[in-house]
Amino acid sequence: SLYRLGEKTADNILRHIQTVRRKDKRIPLGEALPLAEEIVAVLKGLPGVRNLIPAGSLRRFKETIGDIDIMGTADDPESVIKAFVRLPQVEEVLAQGSTKASVIVKSGLQVDLRMVEHDSFCSLLQHFTGSKEHNVALRERAVKQGLSLSEYGITVAKTGETEKFANEEDFYKRIGLQYIPPELREARGEIEMAEKKTLTKLIEVFDIKGDLHVHTEWSDGHESIEAMANAAKACGYKYLAITDHSAGRGIAHGLTAERLRQQMAEIKEVNKKLKGIRIFTGIEVDIRADGALDYPDELLSEIEVVVAAVHSAMGQDKDKMTKRIIQALENPHTDILAHPTCRLLGEREPIEIDIEEVLKAAVRTNTALEINAMPDRLDLKDIH
Ligand SMILES: [Zn+2]
Repeated sequence: SLYRLGEKTADNILRHIQTVRRKDKRIPLGEALPLAEEIVAVLKGLPGVRNLIPAGSLRRFKETIGDIDIMGTADDPESVIKAFVRLPQVEEVLAQGSTKASVIVKSGLQVDLRMVEHDSFCSLLQHFTGSKEHNVALRERAVKQGLSLSEYGITVAKTGETEKFANEEDFYKRIGLQYIPPELREARGEIEMAEKKTLTKLIEVFDIKGDLHVHTEWSDGHESIEAMANAAKACGYKYLAITDHSAGRGIAHGLTAERLRQQMAEIKEVNKKLKGIRIFTGIEVDIRADGALDYPDELLSEIEVVVAAVHSAMGQDKDKMTKRIIQALENPHTDILAHPTCRLLGEREPIEIDIEEVLKAAVRTNTALEINAMPDRLDLKDIH
């Protein structure tokens, strides 16, 4: 204990420090989403549960999540709350009422559950999905139409009557907008597009036809080429490029020219064996600090899919790094630039690059920029 500081005060200070730490901690979407889905799946099995959806930044698929907000409706809301606080994932119950509860789960994340009335569910879900900026912009728009938005519905200013909505499509329609998917609700031009009805369908998982960046046990992956091919087939993919690492400095088990050619022979065999999917030969070739690629052009010309990436000397200044990457894009064999900013969420800051210049060079050289969906990368970022 500390001088002139009672035990209770010390305890309170500790608690506050913990709260601040928790608030600081954002976890990757890839960790938060399965956790939320797990909780929703269990609670949905309870009798009388009608709706249960994570709102907030998770529903907007933000790259990192501060806390999870689940909203729902049920015939007996209190029974759902009681089951929620008793879930095995729950470490600590912060607050519990008859329609609301907040808990901390084992990973340290806060999860809130809010049970609401059936007829206001959609307005509340829209409200708590956000973003704040999106909702502010919607509200300003509604005022011009003589309407006022709140979490309970849309109120007609003249009559004072509040309209409730059974689904979000009707909510957006009422203010003259095309439905805006949660992923786009960031006040970055989506409202203007929805007004002109120019929002296009978002790409969904089942739209993905193949993967052009895959590692196997030949470098730092864990599975064989055939196992990866079968997994890709099971995803409904039509093609797959095997892109193990080149033998560059700093990367363990990179492929020498000799091993690369052995791998190509194996890919040929797998292609003969498997029907319904085409396996391409490939490489994730290292972009060296001076911008040169790790393999000679002659070797690169034998490979079907050349993915170039930075894995070393990440501390270079913006000018040097931008020139280095553009030089790699200018190599006629480079097909794709992998994980363009090299960031690792919560672990490594992005490298310093002039992304505009890199984008221009990619267009000029007809090189694709990768969308890396690994949960801790999500690189490129959605704003690029
Ligand atoms: Zn890489």
